[in-house]
Amino acid sequence: MPLLDISDLCVRIPTPEGEVHAVRAVSLRIERGEIHGVIGESGCGKTMTGMATLGLAPKGARIEAARFHFDGADLREQAKALRGKRIGMIAQDPAAALNPVLSIARQMDDVIRAHRTLPREARRREAADLLAATGLPDPGRVLKSYPHQLSGGMQQRVVIAQALATGADFLIADEPTTALDVSVGAQVLALLRKLVAERGLTVLMITHDMDVIAEACDRATVLYAGRSVETGPVEAVLQKPGHPYTRALLAALPDAAPHGARLAAIEGSIPPPRTRIAGCAFAPRCPKAMPVCAAEPPPERARDRHTWLCHLPEDAA
Ligand code: SF4
Repeated sequence: MPLLDISDLCVRIPTPEGEVHAVRAVSLRIERGEIHGVIGESGCGKTMTGMATLGLAPKGARIEAARFHFDGADLREQAKALRGKRIGMIAQDPAAALNPVLSIARQMDDVIRAHRTLPREARRREAADLLAATGLPDPGRVLKSYPHQLSGGMQQRVVIAQALATGADFLIADEPTTALDVSVGAQVLALLRKLVAERGLTVLMITHDMDVIAEACDRATVLYAGRSVETGPVEAVLQKPGHPYTRALLAALPDAAPHGARLAAIEGSIPPPRTRIAGCAFAPRCPKAMPVCAAEPPPERARDRHTWLCHLPEDAA
């Protein structure tokens, strides 16, 4: 049984102008011990999928799904209870996630105390051990520091240590490297891989960056306009993408363009979230679009454990 099992998740948010489809039909099956990347442009529904899983969808949001389960528990009823116990969060901006006026020792202690009954000295040792587990070289000094005295990479390691302190075994990492330099971001990804291997964690990695998918993830799901359109092992998705949108994302990478050539931008934009979509949402931007594409929902194509939604026959993909 997958640890996170989501099928046809739909999140509708009421606004004065009518309901917004923040997520239309997202399916995710995340096995224990894997890092599963969720990738797409801004507005594709990846962050809202993470927020709904954490029980943090906006007030009044309507959540529907064929399945929305974490370890057998229905997230529609139990997401809030699981948050901070089994499900933890690593935010995009560690500086914003930490309290600027409290020492790291105090902030670590608050998290440990909220989840375990330990004497003060044991909590202090636990905080130092958790900071050491994230690769921070001098935990004693870090504990005495305030967030502004640490680099962005060190702050992100503290945030990861806090997530570990909750005892969560499933982490949602929302663009965890976006606020960091490339080399520091690579170190944070390597740390997450190490923690997954050593502690049996499972990670949902939300990103807009294919390099993060390639570097850190075992499997990946591509979202477009609130729908999951392709999913599979990372090598299959990156090396033999089935969906034209995934191919366009890969073609837009700097490495894909010959030296000195212009990058291949994806023309057009994601349909606004109030748009009614009868067929394939990517049709207005797709170089392979056919008349049927705008009229009928695309069927699922499959190659082993790699699946995608498209009217193009598999051999044409
Ligand atoms: Fe392109 Fe049609 Fe496939 Fe959509 S269904 S991705 S429009 S070929």
